[in-house]
Amino acid sequence: MEKIIAYCGLACDKCGAYIATMNDDDEKRKEVAMLWSKEFGGNIKAEDINCTGCLAADDNVYQYCRICEIRKCGVSKGIDNCACCDEYACDRLLQFFKLVPDAKKQLDSIRE
Ligand code: SF4
Ligand code: SF4
Repeated sequence: MEKIIAYCGLACDKCGAYIATMNDDDEKRKEVAMLWSKEFGGNIKAEDINCTGCLAADDNVYQYCRICEIRKCGVSKGIDNCACCDEYACDRLLQFFKLVPDAKKQLDSIRE
């Protein structure tokens, strides 16, 4: 599967929502909905699990990633991802890296 790196450094091609959507796999949607409901709280439904990745031209992006301020910022700057930003790494991104250190590794490796 093609490598897709979100603005924040998450690997969309490894994300359950992306995999379920690309394979139109309802069992995988259910599995992801249950997992994310447990991890993030709330009652996420299988039908909510639809995303063609953070960079999707069709804007079919999962609801939480759609309202993500990092994504909005990257889109407004017209860059491929935050590694390409002259403000890298901004405070917003540094806060996110505390939660997801792998995202930092990913973006740092792109910058090298
Ligand atoms: S944008 Fe979509 S594929 Fe990427 S991390 Fe968010 S939900 Fe997963
Ligand atoms: S300022 Fe740059 S590094 Fe920070 S979120 Fe926006 S695009 Fe990403």
